[in-house]
Amino acid sequence: MPELPEVEVTRRGVEPHIQGRKVSAVTLRHTGLRWPFPADLDTTLRGHVIRNVGRRGKYLLLKFDHGTLIIHLGMSGHLRILPADIVAQKHDHFDLAMGQQVLRMNDPRRFGAVLWHADADGDVENHLLIRGLGVEPLEDDFSAKLLYQMTRNRHAPIKQVLLAGDIVVGVGNIYASESLFRAGINPKTPAYKISLPRYKKLENAIRVVLAAAIEQGGSTLRDFIAVNGQSGYFQQTYFVYDRTGQPCKVCGTTIRQIKQGQRSTFYCTNCQK
Ligand SMILES: [Zn+2]
Repeated sequence: MPELPEVEVTRRGVEPHIQGRKVSAVTLRHTGLRWPFPADLDTTLRGHVIRNVGRRGKYLLLKFDHGTLIIHLGMSGHLRILPADIVAQKHDHFDLAMGQQVLRMNDPRRFGAVLWHADADGDVENHLLIRGLGVEPLEDDFSAKLLYQMTRNRHAPIKQVLLAGDIVVGVGNIYASESLFRAGINPKTPAYKISLPRYKKLENAIRVVLAAAIEQGGSTLRDFIAVNGQSGYFQQTYFVYDRTGQPCKVCGTTIRQIKQGQRSTFYCTNCQK
């Protein structure tokens, strides 16, 4: 499943090819993905210029003068930039053509989304899918103080509080495990018991882990424009994630795996207290 780093790498990959370009046609090859495609999307977008390519959490936001196209990659979605005459393959459900070039979305499992939010319906930040999202983890309004203040009454384990996404977005299962390892915090610790100095370590860890993933993804996934380019999700090396039974890279203790709210958590009982 694409996590925030993959979505940000996708944003950076497609932005130089589509920002400032005018939509010449929209092609839909299915009735929809997770939700039906917007009615009359071709009429809505044809002739309009993509002013900005933004992101909020795992939602890509293509800003037009009259609204925002919201794209979510779901479980298995990919975006690529291709010459318009390349024949669509299986699961290529959505095309945004800009003259001789096309932004094409492939989504085998169809859990992704393509939605239109007209400016007439208000700020896109107030969209049902976006308004409940926490702050962006790589921006200035994310802080240890915010984590501390927002968790004074949260008795749930810190791992699950991070995954909830209402304080900070984009710290998915992989990055929650990795950040908590780097911060030396046991994932089972109730969030309200964690001190401000320990949240400072966690804030730093989250920033470092996500930034490193984006950098690594950017270097391995530069091929958004290649017809047969590798546009999959990037492989990374982890301290704890998916390393059950293997020795901790810091202390040698065997990495443990537990279930927290249906999700697997990986941690070192010696390094994380
Ligand atoms: Zn360890």
